[in-house]
Amino acid sequence: MLHNFVAPYDAHVIQQFKAAGMPSLGKTNMDEFAMGSSNETSYFGPVKNPWNPAYVPGGSSGGAAACVAARMAPAATGTDTGGSIRQPAALCGITGLKPTYGLVSRYGMIAFASSLDQAGPMAPSAEDCALLLNVMTGFDARDSTCLDRAKEDYTRDLDKPLAGLRVGLPKEFFAEGLNNEVAAAVETAVAELKKLGATTIEISLANSKLAIPVYYVLAPAEASSNLSRFDGVRYGYRAPEYGNLDDMYCKTRAQGFGAEVKRRILIGAYVLSHGYYDAYYLQAQKIRRLIADDFREAFKTCDVILGPTAPGTAFKLGEKSDDPVEMYLNDLYTIPANLAGLPGMSLPCGFDSKGLPIGLQLVGDYFSEAKMLNVAHQYQQVTSWHSRQPEGLL
Ligand code: GLN
Repeated sequence: MLHNFVAPYDAHVIQQFKAAGMPSLGKTNMDEFAMGSSNETSYFGPVKNPWNPAYVPGGSSGGAAACVAARMAPAATGTDTGGSIRQPAALCGITGLKPTYGLVSRYGMIAFASSLDQAGPMAPSAEDCALLLNVMTGFDARDSTCLDRAKEDYTRDLDKPLAGLRVGLPKEFFAEGLNNEVAAAVETAVAELKKLGATTIEISLANSKLAIPVYYVLAPAEASSNLSRFDGVRYGYRAPEYGNLDDMYCKTRAQGFGAEVKRRILIGAYVLSHGYYDAYYLQAQKIRRLIADDFREAFKTCDVILGPTAPGTAFKLGEKSDDPVEMYLNDLYTIPANLAGLPGMSLPCGFDSKGLPIGLQLVGDYFSEAKMLNVAHQYQQVTSWHSRQPEGLL
């Protein structure tokens, strides 16, 4: 739909980077309209994981993650609607942060699911992410959900000791479905944080098991509405041959969208339709609130929540592309933070026996980015996973 589209104006985030003197090297490949967890839905073909080109880089910001992992660029931006910064960061062995919803302006971003979308930094280390976040944040009246708050310096707490930090471990994130090697690496990371003075507490996010069904009602619902603007009239692709106006719309959208995007539009239109709205959309909104309430309760007893970013490491190209549900399950641990609007980040915490990176996820309370970056930075001072690079690329 937008294969050779050149934006006539800059997004707010890009303007901020330009003003700070940071040039843009180019756009990176990604899943079509940010829908995917492996980069295999891209119109341009899949991105390959720099740690092993037979494996996926994760998605949807797989191009950005692969590019940073391969050190083709020192940093990149991504958007995260259900995990698209954190999951590819995990699968490529870099650090990525999805800020609190509303902290970064969405002006100029292609909208997928507007109540979930949030842009954030991707870089080798937490310190780099903090520097990038300093530039990306700030009030912008052109996004009505952008929060009017005083600017913060996200590097301010990087060097704080972790003594007294309370780390919440959600029992649901260490349950069935989690790969053993990922579980072991995350447990080793917990031990490392304890050595730095942190204490752990078991918490429960009981409704998080419903995050995937809730997300796959709400995100497609919003997407079906957002994508209605791609009709061949305004901008983007238009079918070269058509009869009347209706035929132009139909042919343009039939030819211009890929299979995954069409699947989401169909689901979204269905759950919003008269007769099904109450049963699906409204019900999902109610459960979304319960998921957020679980987090609110958890943050009464802990400062940060820790767990795996994804249930496994990178999978082979083609391995899950025929099974959308299996693909959707990859976002089991990342989606709850989006539904609650909370900040989440992923940082490298080891490698599996195939040499593929493992990601550790931190979820913080609203506006606790500085604290999360502090935890990640302190961890990165005593570990070197984030500075490892794939061999034979440069
Ligand atoms: N993988 C999820 C999806 O396919 C999340 C994508 C995203 O965060 N943009 O919708």
